[in-house]
Amino acid sequence: MWSFETDTEFQSKLDWANEFVLTEVEPLDLVLGNPYDKSDMRAMAIVKPLQERVKEQSLWACHLDPELGGEGYGQVKLALLNEILGRSRWAPTIFGCQAPDSGNAEILARYGTSEQKDRYLRQLLDGEISSCYSMTEPHAGSDPGLFTTRAVRDGDDWVLNGEKWFSSNARYASFFIVMAVTDPERGTRGGMSMFIVPAETSGVEIIRNVGTGTESEETATHAYMRYNNVRVPADHLLGEEGDAFGIAQARLGGGRIHHAMRTIARVRSSFDMMLERASSRHLRHGALGSYQLTKEKIADSWIEIEQFRLLVLRTAWLIDKHQDYDFVRKDIAAVKAAMPKVFYDVVMRAMHLHGSLGISNEMPFSELMVSAEIMALADGPTEVHKLTLANELLKGTTPVEGLWPSGHIPTRRAAAETKLAQQLEQVAGAY
Ligand SMILES: Cc1cc2nc3c(=O)[nH]c(=O)nc-3n(C[C@H](O)[C@H](O)[C@H](O)COP(=O)(O)OP(=O)(O)OC[C@H]3O[C@@H](n4cnc5c(N)ncnc54)[C@H](O)[C@@H]3O)c2cc1C
Repeated sequence: MWSFETDTEFQSKLDWANEFVLTEVEPLDLVLGNPYDKSDMRAMAIVKPLQERVKEQSLWACHLDPELGGEGYGQVKLALLNEILGRSRWAPTIFGCQAPDSGNAEILARYGTSEQKDRYLRQLLDGEISSCYSMTEPHAGSDPGLFTTRAVRDGDDWVLNGEKWFSSNARYASFFIVMAVTDPERGTRGGMSMFIVPAETSGVEIIRNVGTGTESEETATHAYMRYNNVRVPADHLLGEEGDAFGIAQARLGGGRIHHAMRTIARVRSSFDMMLERASSRHLRHGALGSYQLTKEKIADSWIEIEQFRLLVLRTAWLIDKHQDYDFVRKDIAAVKAAMPKVFYDVVMRAMHLHGSLGISNEMPFSELMVSAEIMALADGPTEVHKLTLANELLKGTTPVEGLWPSGHIPTRRAAAETKLAQQLEQVAGAY
């Protein structure tokens, strides 16, 4: 049964969220600092009552199942909500589903011991603390097989040494989830493990905070990290020894589709600005929108956004149906590969139609352009996802026997003639 409708009860929640984000949350983006900075008491005083209102509406931490304090709505409903939340930098924090904390919470819930959940997960779910996922390294990002950060067992402890790159929100994190090599002989599968490292552990060093685009180091949040003889107790291993690759995949599957849901919101807001500009800016012969080349930009953008949105919703629906990220590996890879292109193309057109104002720092387009490129890199570059998609598709394809492809017309015609020979002969006699 196909349906493109939202049930009326959830639609009323979406309507509430839409209005709430517009009037109460989007203004915060313009006056408050970083949502991950839980030490900012001024921000927290404003944010806490808003979070309570979200909880009253049963919209808190929608990515989680009820036993973890979420609503268990599933991915399609989450996608519809994220289409609203993606408009605002602060909205995911106000609704308790901000990355990377959401992904870290998911793996703590799935692989953590009860002690680990008590100590780290509860506060994270309550929005009391921030966390950091520290995986990629300065010399290697896309290929985990090249990671060198080492964890060596020493009595009742593990000792970590190495450098990590682009560890987002490290400066605000209360703990880090660090991926390290525990058995160099075994490679990515079996040779790497995940560790929970409290931020105050001796030897955890932020070399510097790296910004995106023209961001200054003062506000930058992606840390270049060094772990110098960082010693954590053995019970700080997350999951089994050697299981890091599987844990990372479980974490990233959800993360990628959630980014895509929020991206729809950001692309749509660029598109709305494009429409407004086309209707409002006048040239000598009429509004910008009356020119054919502008109309083409509008039409192309709408088609691309709707295509992308359907791909995302279909993938979300498949996740709900099969409850298995492995099953939707190729679909998530397709979403991830499609995302930066639609994002970039629509933002570029909107920016271009705004002329010099568009590229200025008085409009959001430059930042959105960098965000589009971020979506092409974070959680793996587009090329890697295209490879995954193509490999999965090729896996299910049977090679043709013989010289000619199955679409070869003379071969098909010969087969059709053989199949219909008798009938053709009969009808030829009759007419
Ligand atoms: C905003 C942002 C936040 C991030 N946050 C985190 C975080 O919190 N924690 C964390 O651990 N990491 C984080 N990352 C790092 C991210 O995961 C890496 O950027 C990503 O995995 C790519 O690695 P790299 O940047 O080292 O690029 P590289 O691996 O050097 O790749 C560079 C380019 O090489 C090409 N390439 C690579 N592999 C292939 C291939 N197989 N086939 C064809 N071409 C290929 C692609 O064009 C790719 O863009 C973040 C990145 C960004 C941009």
